[in-house]
Amino acid sequence: MKAPPFTLHRPATVDEAVALLADLADEGALVLAGGQSLVPMMALRLAYPPDLIDINGIAGLDRIEVSGDHLVIGALARHHDFRRPVAPGPFGALLAHISGEIAHYPIRTRGTFCGSLAHADPASEWCLTAATLGAEMVLQSQAGRRAVPVAEWFEGAMATVREPEELLVEVRLSRPAEDAVWGFYEFNRRAGDFAIGAALAGYRLEGGAMRDVRIGVGAVEEVPRRLEEVEAALEGEAPGPEAFRTAAEIAARAVEPLEDFATPADYRRDLAVTVIERALLEAGADRPDQRGMAA
Ligand SMILES: Cc1cc2nc3c(=O)[nH]c(=O)nc-3n(C[C@H](O)[C@H](O)[C@H](O)COP(=O)(O)OP(=O)(O)OC[C@H]3O[C@@H](n4cnc5c(N)ncnc54)[C@H](O)[C@@H]3O)c2cc1C
Repeated sequence: MKAPPFTLHRPATVDEAVALLADLADEGALVLAGGQSLVPMMALRLAYPPDLIDINGIAGLDRIEVSGDHLVIGALARHHDFRRPVAPGPFGALLAHISGEIAHYPIRTRGTFCGSLAHADPASEWCLTAATLGAEMVLQSQAGRRAVPVAEWFEGAMATVREPEELLVEVRLSRPAEDAVWGFYEFNRRAGDFAIGAALAGYRLEGGAMRDVRIGVGAVEEVPRRLEEVEAALEGEAPGPEAFRTAAEIAARAVEPLEDFATPADYRRDLAVTVIERALLEAGADRPDQRGMAA
């Protein structure tokens, strides 16, 4: 199927883009970033914006840079830009690993980190990353800028607090402690498909005990989120398969899984246990890339 007709606008600056949004958002205008979600939706006639505001010509929006406690990710930073570490140590290695799990290579060369946060698919790897590590979404409109913490960002599956006239100009992803170890695990039926369960797990070791434990789960519920019950169960414990299994089982009681025609809720509940346990094992594994990450 072909997309319905639309008018394409190509602003050269952020100010021009937000001026266009101020004029046209009420009539359904949408921002076009990588187009890897929006264009298929238009082709399937699930979206029919009369105007598209293509931000790909705006210089400087592709930046990815460490700034204090954050990694600042501009609206045109593509998934593939993370494939070479963008930050030193385990953090850069973690983002490189996660980026390789998103879709297929051609999609990764166009799709953007910020587009994923704006689109808010429950299975998005970057949404899970932002929810687990912490992040702020920086929105700009003609009224100025505002920053929204990730805990307030998602309103549900594919819904955020962004107003139609706001451009997501950058995401400020929190940088974890240098000595934290991380594991990411996702399950999908075929390589490159959207995950039907994913987990990101990390902790620091202090005297043999886990500290600052972070456990996030995605693709299981409407919104990716940290599971504080699971984090609390692991805090202060020694890492190991038994502790990981017990903690992951707590997740089964904590989640409210999505259900669709192919995946019953109980299956996703079981999957949450598996992906969390495997992400934790991955974090603790003495893998060559982990050794590189900690260097
Ligand atoms: C076959 C296939 C498989 C895929 N698999 C995965 C996967 O496994 N994991 C995954 O996470 N994604 C997957 N995707 C989606 C892909 O990652 C998209 O790139 C991503 O969801 C959206 O980023 P985008 O830059 O392409 O946004 P677009 O498609 O351009 O936009 C998506 C939505 O976000 C809005 N938007 C985008 N940027 C901004 C902005 N800066 N400010 C305000 N609004 C904005 C648009 O208006 C639109 O509503 C897949 C896509 C395809 C086609």
